[in-house]
Amino acid sequence: MARVYNFCAGPAALPTAVLEKASTEMLDWNGKGLSVMEMSHRSDEYVSIAEKAEADLRGLLNIPENYKVLFMQGGATAQFAMIPMNLLRGKTSADYINTGQWSEKAIKEAKRYCNVNVVANSEDNNFSYAPTQQDLKLNTDAAYVHYTPNETIGGVAFDYIPDTGDVPLVADFSSSILSEELDVSKFGLIYAGAQKNIGPAGLCIVIVREDLLGDTLPSTPTAMDYKVAADNGSMYNTPATYSWYLAGLVFDWLKQQGGVPEMAKINQRKATKLYSYIDASGFYANPVKPANRSIMNVPFTLKNAALDKAFLAQADEQGLLNLKGHRSVGGMRASIYNAVTEQAVDALIAFMKRFASENG
Ligand SMILES: *Cc1c(COP(=O)(O)O)cnc(C)c1O
Repeated sequence: MARVYNFCAGPAALPTAVLEKASTEMLDWNGKGLSVMEMSHRSDEYVSIAEKAEADLRGLLNIPENYKVLFMQGGATAQFAMIPMNLLRGKTSADYINTGQWSEKAIKEAKRYCNVNVVANSEDNNFSYAPTQQDLKLNTDAAYVHYTPNETIGGVAFDYIPDTGDVPLVADFSSSILSEELDVSKFGLIYAGAQKNIGPAGLCIVIVREDLLGDTLPSTPTAMDYKVAADNGSMYNTPATYSWYLAGLVFDWLKQQGGVPEMAKINQRKATKLYSYIDASGFYANPVKPANRSIMNVPFTLKNAALDKAFLAQADEQGLLNLKGHRSVGGMRASIYNAVTEQAVDALIAFMKRFASENG
């Protein structure tokens, strides 16, 4: 069996060891004679799987006791609505930082529920940087401040955590959670769709400070109320049981790799190699301000866009898949999440070198 090198932005590569483990347990989990997919979410077996996944995630991110971990559905996109519904809590406005397409989508959705103050916007330079703390025109009466620490499409990452004083900070960590260490206590709420750096699609993890629960907009659907989810262990209704289980296998795998600090070292090494080569090549280019370059999503262009098609076709032949940039920006993008090995990045760079020398 040949596994390709998969640079997809999402749903993204999963660790081979995790898929192997899931496959050995597919028909018969732990001698119980049934698949995890076939279990009642209320059974002792499934509850043990769910609780272990949460405990492991708490350990990996050092999540403080006063935060709830919710395993929700609807992807990060549903959070764009759930956040204002749950966190306005009597207030009428929220602050948003706009650093690219995911921020914009969050802003657009929030506008359906409240006044949105865009407190900084990097569109002036084609979303190629993250605003600094001094750039943020924060409002003390905002219900919360929302930002996207890692813009998956533009490959732009914040190199600091915004200081928002007493106003809760909310962050969309969909494409960078678990990629490097994180001080959860600095946030009111963190959310992340699973299909980038956690597990299969169908699951969205929400880590929320307890004092922010309750007092939701009256129209909030029950299944979208964080307090209801928290009070019911994310099982008010049937959760995405198999995705939750697989996320648990990924958390276990991360622990075996040495946890987040070890992954962060590997991720830094992978990203540094790739950006260094791009910068030195004279053939490829990345437009992002160096301090704000994402270590997870690396967009790049070829000197001559007419070569894009040939690049992608030849990469495919070499087993280097899903390098096409987002349809909105064109060019290429290599997503190098935790499950994308250093070997995969080395293979990509070797191919890029060969392609450049043959077409430069
Ligand atoms: C992928 C992504 C989303 C959207 O996730 P869905 O699960 O498709 O709703 C939102 N924000 C960021 C930063 C993403 O990378």
